[in-house]
Amino acid sequence: MKLSAIQLNQADIQIKRLIKSDSYYGNIFKKAGITGVSSQEEFESLPFSSKDDLRNAYPLGIQAVPDEDVVRIHSSSGTTGKPVIIPYTAKDVDDWAVMFARCYETAGITNKDRIQITPGYGLWTAGIGFQAGCEKLGAMAIPMGPGNTEKQLQMMQDLKSTVLTATSSYALLLAEEINKRGLKDKICLKKGVFGSERWSDKMRSYIQKELGIELYDIYGLTEIYGPGIGINCSENNGIHYWDDYVYIEIIDPKTGKNVPDGEEGEIVITTLVKEGAPLIRFRTHDISRIIPGKCKCGRDYPRIDTIKGRSDDMFKVHGVNMFPSQVEEILQNIDGASSEYNITIAHDNDKNKDIMIVTVEVEGRVDFEKTANSIRASFKSKIGVTPKITPVPVGTLPRSEKKTKRVIDYRETV
Ligand code: ZN
Repeated sequence: MKLSAIQLNQADIQIKRLIKSDSYYGNIFKKAGITGVSSQEEFESLPFSSKDDLRNAYPLGIQAVPDEDVVRIHSSSGTTGKPVIIPYTAKDVDDWAVMFARCYETAGITNKDRIQITPGYGLWTAGIGFQAGCEKLGAMAIPMGPGNTEKQLQMMQDLKSTVLTATSSYALLLAEEINKRGLKDKICLKKGVFGSERWSDKMRSYIQKELGIELYDIYGLTEIYGPGIGINCSENNGIHYWDDYVYIEIIDPKTGKNVPDGEEGEIVITTLVKEGAPLIRFRTHDISRIIPGKCKCGRDYPRIDTIKGRSDDMFKVHGVNMFPSQVEEILQNIDGASSEYNITIAHDNDKNKDIMIVTVEVEGRVDFEKTANSIRASFKSKIGVTPKITPVPVGTLPRSEKKTKRVIDYRETV
């Protein structure tokens, strides 16, 4: 998707403003001799920004406005090394609430709704984002925060909450509790708005059925405002995102080049009007694609597909992108296949083609050859590649206490 004339102008203003500030990115642009952008090509040659940059700029190096203009900071969790701090101006905070209210509207939520907010408040962008959007919309916020299931269920019944906002795992826990206690008839929930972490279809349909609600996936990340830059509509065919605030590109994570619309790759986001901490071409590592064409709902906002995984986990064979999560889903549905597997990929130079071997642990009670055939058939129908399947007895593959390395790619060492 190309930049519109307005977006190109907004990006140019962002860059010029960054250069004028003495901020981390301003200095990077100055050093690179960048003075602005005037074309798509020029834009696509701008350097990427990354979470590593933001860590280098800790704590407030990316701040691009004077101190008196900053009204709040948020921080993303620092599980690996330093956390990231993002400063917001009053306009940033308001823009975020406007986007978030638009998300609620897109999900068919109105000012008559009562929104129970269970994501955490504090440094994290979640709870406060859900709340600000709710107030902007004019709905009633029930600011619970996470945990205390007893009280959550009490408030849900007494206040007749109509919308639940949560992480998908907490929504699952609440759904199970409601089921266990037989409360389904006493709750008034109609819709759920959940963070767009990857979750299985099984989990989705369980929550949907147990709570009897419509589900909406909200997209966003702390570095770019927070959750609320996009959501699916009732057509349930991709996530509409707000292109008057963000510009989204899809790139090949290996080459960094833009891919054509419709093709899968890594989401790269540019903020168009952000003041406190503008980001140009921020690499999210989320994998998706632009869905070409207009949505049946009639909205003009462009769409990205549901997030498929993280680029760090992606591998490509015969031009098809794959994720360990897809392999796990296939194996889950094969009788006798265990969850333990590994994948070896190599290139056959004589035949000039990639070879993919999936070694899977198979239980002794089933026929190895038949099981291998059904795994192969499932790969073909679900992913579109036909690997060689090697079944081995359970306990053959090495176990690791750390994250198991599932994919061994010999092509990269050539
Ligand atoms: Zn739509």
